[in-house]
Amino acid sequence: MCDCLVALPEVTGAATILAKNSDRPPDEVQHWEHIDAAIDTEPIRCTHVTVAPWAERTREVMISRPYWRGALQCWGAEHGVNDLGVAIGNEAIYTIDDPRSAAPGLTGLDLVRLGLQRGTSAEHAVTVILDLLHTVGQGGTCHDPHGHGGARTYWSSFLVADPVSAWVIETSARVAAVRRVDTAAAISNRTSIPWFDDGYRHPRQPTDRFVDARLAASGRVLEERPVTVDALRSHLASHDSCSEPGWSVCMHTEHQRTVASMVAVMPVGERPHVWVADGQPCEVGFRQTGWPELR
Ligand SMILES: [Zn+2]
Repeated sequence: MCDCLVALPEVTGAATILAKNSDRPPDEVQHWEHIDAAIDTEPIRCTHVTVAPWAERTREVMISRPYWRGALQCWGAEHGVNDLGVAIGNEAIYTIDDPRSAAPGLTGLDLVRLGLQRGTSAEHAVTVILDLLHTVGQGGTCHDPHGHGGARTYWSSFLVADPVSAWVIETSARVAAVRRVDTAAAISNRTSIPWFDDGYRHPRQPTDRFVDARLAASGRVLEERPVTVDALRSHLASHDSCSEPGWSVCMHTEHQRTVASMVAVMPVGERPHVWVADGQPCEVGFRQTGWPELR
């Protein structure tokens, strides 16, 4: 599970802000990692498959990457930012297509990292993700096979933002729907783009019990003016959006818990300013993090 929000300068009064809670198995640890820019000469080994190296220099990124216990390591990330102020967060979504029958491919987490390392703007990162979705495809476990609950596969949706624009992507296997964000948007664990929701929504997913209250709470935060970093950090640590016990934006259920969070502020022409929670945001709070030379 997860919740992700974006607010563009028109509603923040300043810079774009992207906020994400990563809800994962309760025993999962994520590391906040800095990865330098590079020119890849070898194929990239992602979580389950190998992709061709990028023809250009990759971007410098900071990402929240799950640590897995066995030989299989998660290469991708739940959320992150790059040095140009592109930020991406993903969500697990369920559709009429069964992800368990998909051949090994990229995970949604892999696509987050590839979008950040290759995208020079939000729109460009969307193109990168869609190209990889079509040419390589999605498939394989997105959870640690040796962790709580074991292996689990799902399709992904994404919120992709930069200092001046943002996009929603929702996917089912190699099919994708894309919507440009007007001034603000939130996504959660369900399809939401109208034509895609009509055609691909999982017929039995109880979104009214487990998803819609969180999504509505995010919508209310985005209706405030201005939308602020403080409001978004408070929202990510909040428990008042439950329709079922523990299913709040800051999640506390037996099988899913908020294990990492990020609030990224992306001013035009500057590197992003980033706050992260290295655990449940209601307990550990947020710390500001930065690019190495700014520490
Ligand atoms: Zn909490």
